Amino acid sequence: MSDSKSPLPAISDLDHAGITALVAELGLEKYRSAQILDAVWRSDATTWAGVTTLSKRAQETLAAVSRFYSTETVEREDVEDGATTKLLITLSGGAKVEAVLMRYPPDPRRGRGERATICVSSQAGCAVGCPFCATGELGFTRNLTAGEIQDQVRLARQILRGEGRELTNVVFMGMGEPLQNLDPVLASIDGLTDPLRGGIGQRRIVVSTSGVVPGINRLAQVRPQVTLAVSLHAARNPLRDLLVPLNRKWPVEEVVTAAAAHARTTGRRTTFEVTMIDGINDRPDDAAALVQVLRGSDSHVNLIPMNSVAHTPWQESSAQRIEEIAEQLRASGLSVTVRRNRGREAGAACGQLAAERAGTPPPAAVARRRELLVVASAAALQGRRSPTPLAPSGPLAPSDPLGGGDAL
Ligand code: SF4
Repeated sequence: MSDSKSPLPAISDLDHAGITALVAELGLEKYRSAQILDAVWRSDATTWAGVTTLSKRAQETLAAVSRFYSTETVEREDVEDGATTKLLITLSGGAKVEAVLMRYPPDPRRGRGERATICVSSQAGCAVGCPFCATGELGFTRNLTAGEIQDQVRLARQILRGEGRELTNVVFMGMGEPLQNLDPVLASIDGLTDPLRGGIGQRRIVVSTSGVVPGINRLAQVRPQVTLAVSLHAARNPLRDLLVPLNRKWPVEEVVTAAAAHARTTGRRTTFEVTMIDGINDRPDDAAALVQVLRGSDSHVNLIPMNSVAHTPWQESSAQRIEEIAEQLRASGLSVTVRRNRGREAGAACGQLAAERAGTPPPAAVARRRELLVVASAAALQGRRSPTPLAPSGPLAPSDPLGGGDAL
């Protein structure tokens, strides 16, 4: 996809002013700025040479100083009868991330037309290390730039344009903890919502976090229209320490309080995500604890069956159990949906593809990891907290769940 192997800056890392300055610096005609923006965000070109609105001289001048896409290679696979497209993207330096494009038919009952959502990654790997998550098992490789995030959206728009469809929503729910890479995430939101670039309404963007409280607070202040999703997974600290290791730094009560403040400041309802794991967080007591912490808050709960990952002894909750929990929550006054995990058919759910490509850890490490999780979950279910998180068994760099990623 890239027209150069060299690590030149990606054009998507520049905003309108940056492109205008570049055009002036390169001695190109002023009107080229508008042509470049249009080509980057609204054309089917994949290289500068493919931008037919530019002169050959302008194409070559721009190619000498910038990359049209930050992506090195893109592997595409369509699954679920074409409703879902998974993209495995290699970035400069060899980092791999994935993005998943989901198409939804019109829903007249809810007054919705056709929709298409891209789930983007904000980091290669993830330092948080949630043990039920394929990305968490990988460990952390590096943060993505704003351009690398936006390019996932550009790729999705190109695919959809070829089908006569439009991208309607962007969710930061792929690989990584967006609020541990906050400045590039905010810059990418600026690009996606800029009418001259992405042109997507802030309200059509969801940022998901595992509970980085300072990031939630800052997001409320600086991008108040963006919807917040919180990956809660458990409402009691001993279990959440295990499922979301970051919980040791920002426990359940602090996360829910920050989310409530976000909802008050922004007027946007918070979505709380709960990955449903058989015998771990799907008992009536778990639902009761959830009701207790969310009571009175402006929130919605999404129950999501867990994707199987090789490194854990856990399985998804049964459909019946998930429905029972949903009913219990509804009966207590919470708004609830049960979400199907798109992309799982071919391993495209959060981090699974990249995890597969990263290679399998040695069987002994996997077996040890599973044993540790059995012991740790038994202790957590008895209400015992552990001060130290389990290290992932994956083949990449070691994670620092309590401090990884950018400063806020
Ligand atoms: S669930 Fe999210 S925060 Fe947790 S390890 Fe996976 S990508 Fe990171």
